[in-house]
Amino acid sequence: MASMYIFGAGYAAQPQRDDPAARAAADRAKSKADDVETRLDRAMLTMEAIWTLVRERTGLADADLLQRIADLDATDGMLDGKVRRPPIKCPHCDRTTPNRFDRCMYCGGDVPRDPFA
Ligand SMILES: [Zn+2]
Repeated sequence: MASMYIFGAGYAAQPQRDDPAARAAADRAKSKADDVETRLDRAMLTMEAIWTLVRERTGLADADLLQRIADLDATDGMLDGKVRRPPIKCPHCDRTTPNRFDRCMYCGGDVPRDPFA
C-alpha cells in the first residue's frame, strides 16, 4: 500500500537513538540553546535593572516604556514584536549593503553602523 511505503520511508529517515554522531550533535545543540537562554536571562535582568533605575530617577512610567516599544515596533511597518532594519545605501558606492557590518560588502568603504542592527 502506498501510504505504508511513505510511512516506512519517513520512519527510516529518523536518526537512531544510539547513533553517536546524532547524540553528539543533539548535545551540542542543547548546550548552545542553554547558553543562549542563560545570556537572554542575563540581558533581560540587565534591561529590567536599567529600566527600573530610569523609571525611579526620571518620573517616566511603564506606560511610557510600552508606548515607546510599540512606536519602535511600528517603524518597520509591522506590529510584530520586532524591528527589521533595512539595508543601508553605501555613501561610497551607492549600493545597498546589510546594516550589520561596519564596511560595505561591495566596496569595503566605512558605512555608518546602526547600534541596534
Ligand atoms: Zn560601497
